[in-house]
Amino acid sequence: IALASRAKPEISPKFGDTNKSCQCSQGKHRHKGTVEDCCCDYETVKLWCDCLFWPEDHMCRLRYCSVCECPESEFPDSFKPFQRTLSSDDLKCREGKSQAAVDRTLDSKAFRGWTETDNPWTYDDETDNSKMTYVNLQLNPELYTGYNGTSARRIWDAVYSENCPKYPAEELCQEEKILYKLISGLHSSISVHIASDYLIDEATNLWGHNLEIMYYRVLQYPNRVENLYFTFLFVLRAVTKAAEYLEQAEYDTGNPTEDLKTQSLMKQLLYDPKLQAACPLPFDEAKLWKGQRGPELKQKIQAQFKNISAVMDCVGCEKCRLWGKLQVSGLGTALKILFSVNDEENLVQIFQRNEVIALMNLLNRLSESVKFVHEMGAAAEKLVQGR
Ligand code: FAD
Repeated sequence: IALASRAKPEISPKFGDTNKSCQCSQGKHRHKGTVEDCCCDYETVKLWCDCLFWPEDHMCRLRYCSVCECPESEFPDSFKPFQRTLSSDDLKCREGKSQAAVDRTLDSKAFRGWTETDNPWTYDDETDNSKMTYVNLQLNPELYTGYNGTSARRIWDAVYSENCPKYPAEELCQEEKILYKLISGLHSSISVHIASDYLIDEATNLWGHNLEIMYYRVLQYPNRVENLYFTFLFVLRAVTKAAEYLEQAEYDTGNPTEDLKTQSLMKQLLYDPKLQAACPLPFDEAKLWKGQRGPELKQKIQAQFKNISAVMDCVGCEKCRLWGKLQVSGLGTALKILFSVNDEENLVQIFQRNEVIALMNLLNRLSESVKFVHEMGAAAEKLVQGR
């Protein structure tokens, strides 16, 4: 995945003091390579400068917040500017070794035929490749990082209070509720992943499940569980709607065997007969935006979602931001597929490759969360009730 930062803001910032200029000083925070300092390398400080709302804030230095960027030597051959043989040392994305000397023309080589079109639902501009960096998501999994307190709370508050307020009973229409449900479902999923991969004992570096966290943050609120399921079904519908395109897209991993495997797994997922029988229409998008207020409502919700996507740049923990941005981009892609693409239109014309990566990874995160809740929910309730 390539993370993008933006050259110039397109929407007006809504929160906090936005008159201050970005405090980032290039090169000043170069680190010596310890894991703790990894947050402060040049590239990440630059990314942090994208925050439109609280530019005076600092990136946290928590150990588990660091993201390891891929050195160029780790890219599949077809991504590389020139071919050379890799040593086994080259193949490791090592913590603290984050100098990714990326050939910025790689995208067009590795993803032939993929276009770059702005998504009306998100605040992402990936046209400036010079500010992107490659990250191996498998080496930087979403898990407990310790990110907490004012910074994290401020992000969630901004997302909910400014953009998708909790709705009292019947006050909001269906479309407005959807935005809240999607964000709440994503929030539940993030909490479930924190609970699923938790640092139980720092001294011994013991990781495991924290069922109490899952219960107190998610399970004890039935609507948060419902919203998780809702978001999962919504994204599943978007993926199945785009099945024909996703099936035919060219996946170039740099390894022909892996390419075939990817294509075959995509097909299995997209046309799984069990899934189709159990859930033929996970979400019916045709019912929305019908009334007189339809177009105006759509614009309003699009603007709100764009704000949410911009707020993700202010997440003060690099790994949380990576996954926050990725998953919000995945939601934006789902919204685009369901609400901004006519059936006749050729989907190839409207996807950025990062959007497909985001969409598929989001579906994976949500389905893992649903599975964890399904498998561990009863145990979590029993544990808490037994106390
Ligand atoms: P929070 O999760 O911060 O919730 C704040 C408030 O929101 C709650 O008090 C409640 O009123 C409301 N709320 C909570 N859940 C829901 C819901 N599902 N629906 C509706 N309302 C809800 N931490 C990590 O350890 N790893 C990560 O990968 C990670 N990723 C993050 C990504 C983003 C974008 C953000 C903003 C934060 C991330 N965090 C991550 C931090 C984490 O989400 C929590 O903010 C933190 O663990 C503190 O949790 P909390 O119990 O204070 O409640």
